[in-house]
Amino acid sequence: MSTSLIAMGVALFVVMNLVIGLAILSLLSGAFETLFGKPKLSILRSTKSGNFFAFGFRWNSAKEPAAVDTIRIRLFNPFGNPTQSEVVSQFGVKKVSFAEEVDMGPGLIELIGAKNFDSASVQVVVGSSKDGISWQFDMKGPKFKRLVNEAYLTVDQFIGDHNLGETKTSKPPIDVPIRAFIADTVPGKGAQLAIATNPAFANLFAGAAPAGGAAASGGTAATAENFAVTKVWIEPGCIVCNACEDIYKDVFDVQADTCYIRPGAPLDDGLRIQEAAEACPVEVIKFTKA
Ligand code: SF4
Repeated sequence: MSTSLIAMGVALFVVMNLVIGLAILSLLSGAFETLFGKPKLSILRSTKSGNFFAFGFRWNSAKEPAAVDTIRIRLFNPFGNPTQSEVVSQFGVKKVSFAEEVDMGPGLIELIGAKNFDSASVQVVVGSSKDGISWQFDMKGPKFKRLVNEAYLTVDQFIGDHNLGETKTSKPPIDVPIRAFIADTVPGKGAQLAIATNPAFANLFAGAAPAGGAAASGGTAATAENFAVTKVWIEPGCIVCNACEDIYKDVFDVQADTCYIRPGAPLDDGLRIQEAAEACPVEVIKFTKA
C-alpha cells in the first residue's frame, strides 16, 4: 500500500472521528435539536367541552421567528360527507413553543363525526395570520381520532413537562432609574421640561395649588394657575415606566401591562396631572381641562 493511501486513510479516520465527536457534543448541548429539530405538534387532552381542542406546538423560534396565533383543522373526505370541511380558531400570539386549549366551535364535533371519517385525511395547520407562516401536519382520520381520544397530557402538564412558557415578568425589561430623569435634571445641560419637579422652573410653579385648595407648601407667589380636569385617560402604548405614578400616585396606578387611572381619582390638581403627562416618555396620558 502506498504511503499516500495510508495518509488519506488516516486523514479520513481523523475527520470521521471529528464529525462524530461534534455530533455527540451537539446532541448533548441541545444544539442539534436547535439546528435540525422539526416543528412538532402534540395533541393534548382537553379539559373542557367537546368543542375545545388542546395541543402543544414546539418549533425553533430562533430560526423561524413568527407570531403564531391560528390553528386550523381541515378534513379531506372524498368518499364521505361532507367531502371537505374546516374549523379555525385564533388565540393569543405566541412567539415561542407553547401549548393551548382553544374553542373550535361546534364544527369540530361535526368534523370528527363526518360520515366515512375513517377514510378521510385530516390536516392540522398551525400558523401566524400576521407573518403568513404556517406548518401543516397530515394524518389519516383514524389516527387523528386516536390521538384525540388517547391524549392524556393536559396543556398545563405539557407546559410543565417541556418547560414551556414565556418568562413572565411583572413589568417589561426596561431599565428605568428609580427616580425619573425629570427630577434629576442637570441645570444648563440640554433641553429641560417646564414642570414642577424641575428645579430650574421652581419659580414658575411656586405656590400652585389645587383649584380651590390651599397653596403648595413653600409657595409664595402663584405664577401658574392651577386648573381642574374633567377627564384623564391613558391611550394605548404605555411602557409602564412608573413616571406618572411617581408624580401623582393618587391618580395613576401603574400595573404590569399598562397604567390605569384610579377610580375616584382627584381631578382638581390639573397642574400635577399635566406634569405627569409631560413626564410620560411615550405621551399616552391625555386629559381635558374643565
Ligand atoms: S402612562 Fe406614561 S408615564 Fe405612566 S407608566 Fe405609562 S409610559 Fe410611564
